Amino acid sequence: MTSIYLPQFTIGEAAFEEFKNEIGKYGRKVAVIHGEKAWKASEQYILPALKHAGLLMTGHMVYGREASHENTDRIMAEPFVQEADMILAAGGGKCLDTVKLAADRMHKPVFTVPTIASNCAPITRISIMYHEDGSFCDISRLSQVPVHCFINPRVIMSAPVRFFRAGIGDAMAKFVESRWSAKAGEALSYGSQLGLQCGKLCFYPLLKNGCKALEDVKQGRITDEAEQTILNVVISPGIVSVSVHPDYNGGAAHALFYGLTSRAHIEEKYLHGEVVAYGTLVNLMLDGDFENLKQVYAFYKKVGLPVCLKDLELEREDPMEDILAVTMENQEMKHTPYPVTADMIHEAILKLEEYEGL
Ligand SMILES: [Zn+2]
Repeated sequence: MTSIYLPQFTIGEAAFEEFKNEIGKYGRKVAVIHGEKAWKASEQYILPALKHAGLLMTGHMVYGREASHENTDRIMAEPFVQEADMILAAGGGKCLDTVKLAADRMHKPVFTVPTIASNCAPITRISIMYHEDGSFCDISRLSQVPVHCFINPRVIMSAPVRFFRAGIGDAMAKFVESRWSAKAGEALSYGSQLGLQCGKLCFYPLLKNGCKALEDVKQGRITDEAEQTILNVVISPGIVSVSVHPDYNGGAAHALFYGLTSRAHIEEKYLHGEVVAYGTLVNLMLDGDFENLKQVYAFYKKVGLPVCLKDLELEREDPMEDILAVTMENQEMKHTPYPVTADMIHEAILKLEEYEGL
């Protein structure tokens, strides 16, 4: 038996006008959980929209600072959340994942408002959970995807553009990694084929329009390129995530991300999508996919994503044994299209140092 839950969403400056139609059918009382900065950026749009939709906000609170089980428990214990018919989550990936898990455990419908365009958390059926100290805890599987995701580009534009750029890097990895992992040659299920097709949207349109979209978002211009790029960062990788066989949901780029973040300065100074973007180049080099490597390399140079070790404040001479050990142990390396060793990844990293984009 197979079930695929595809995401539902609305995008546009008037997106929150759909609260009435989409949230209204589940009741009247809504609890709002948000990030701290996220609320400052979105409150002015969310509160009038809830009122206009005839919905009653039972209360609102900050989810915490980390996507932790402690914060999920805290949300579940709140009387204003318990009395609500549904929950509206407004924030970045960590906030949305925390609230999604709380709603799932409380059997309440959950709606999402992303306040940054940096990942597909607003629509996926998993919550990536961390310990209170920021280290990875587990991936919780949920019974459903969020009921509806409301994307207001105006809200997204109040966040630093660096998040959006990192999101583009993370989305492009989705295409490269899913295609690479599926090269193993197993028969593909319908879901895997659907996801792999959708993965193309995480790549080619971003290469073409990503640069303009970043500029538009920086200047506060809502254009077709900006909206489509937001969708290809938030929605397209989400469709890949909810459709493909779990083996195809990651690859060497994300495994290397986990390896690299074992160095404190990478964890502290760089965004997930920035480190993953570098890993994508290594994944393409490892695979000898020079056609895509050339395009991705040129694109990163143009928009300012990392292309070499120096961009991540690492030395070429660094033996990287610790990084490679964590990379190889990562679950993303359990399924690869052909056997991959730590030496092969190191070699790809060094070849990339020599690479000049030709
Ligand atoms: Zn990622």
